[in-house]
Amino acid sequence: MRLKNKVALVTGAGSGIGKETALTFAKEGAFVIIADINEVMSYETVQEIEAISGKSFFVKVNVTNEDSIKNMVKEVQEKCGKIDILFNNAGISGVGQLHEIERETWQKVLDVNVTGVFLVSKAVLPIMMDQNSGSIINMSSCIAEIGLANRASYAASKGAVLSLTKSMQVDYAKYNIRVNALMPGTIYTPFVEDYLSREPNRNAAIAKIKDRQLSGDLGKPIDVAYAALYLASDESKFMMGTPFVIDGGVVNG
Ligand code: NAD
Repeated sequence: MRLKNKVALVTGAGSGIGKETALTFAKEGAFVIIADINEVMSYETVQEIEAISGKSFFVKVNVTNEDSIKNMVKEVQEKCGKIDILFNNAGISGVGQLHEIERETWQKVLDVNVTGVFLVSKAVLPIMMDQNSGSIINMSSCIAEIGLANRASYAASKGAVLSLTKSMQVDYAKYNIRVNALMPGTIYTPFVEDYLSREPNRNAAIAKIKDRQLSGDLGKPIDVAYAALYLASDESKFMMGTPFVIDGGVVNG
């Protein structure tokens, strides 16, 4: 059990990568808090953990809302007394070239994907600083380092998360807190299905994604969950402020 006696807070754990990671953490012995804005999907995650270990509960949170985050952290502290692992995973997609994006849409993507990481980390860090331990995993994307068509707001948000991760690591290393970033390629989740369903030619869009990944296929949530598990565990204690790429070998945009 690689996460025995650890308490893990996973945002966006109702779906996709967050859900698979929550299940993986539970299988490795962690108590997992399922933090998400979507109640229905999150209860399914909690039910699946019930069958694994029963060590889980759901907290409804909007990562862009400070009051909601404060309530979440208060509840976790009351019930668990500590937070060892924070996975800042909640995120939304942003499609469009820069000249087409409305300011409101731009702001929404930045609010969830970047400000969400800032606000949740801000609320959790004092607990980790008091403990003098912690592992924070921030969800970036391989798009932070490559150009990809039609993703201006999303790319900007994930680039910001990568920079924020490095800056956080420098500030909190003295508290024995590690902060690393995940950089997935295209992973088949409801998030990607939503994008595909809006493409005029779905099959051509899938073929294009497959074509740019040396793996020849889209990734699965478990591919990222294993990487998150490594960053969450003490096995990665020498990884600090590092981008961890899991992209099936993305070769071009
Ligand atoms: P998903 O849509 O399946 O899951 C995202 C979850 O975040 C959902 O459960 C949703 O309810 C939750 N969420 C959204 N807004 C929220 C908010 N304001 N407050 C709380 N929860 C909120 O998506 P996914 O593919 O599993 O993506 C998870 C993360 O991984 C995202 O940050 C995404 O940008 C990133 N990512 C995904 C891919 C991919 O190809 N799927 C690649 C790289 C990075």
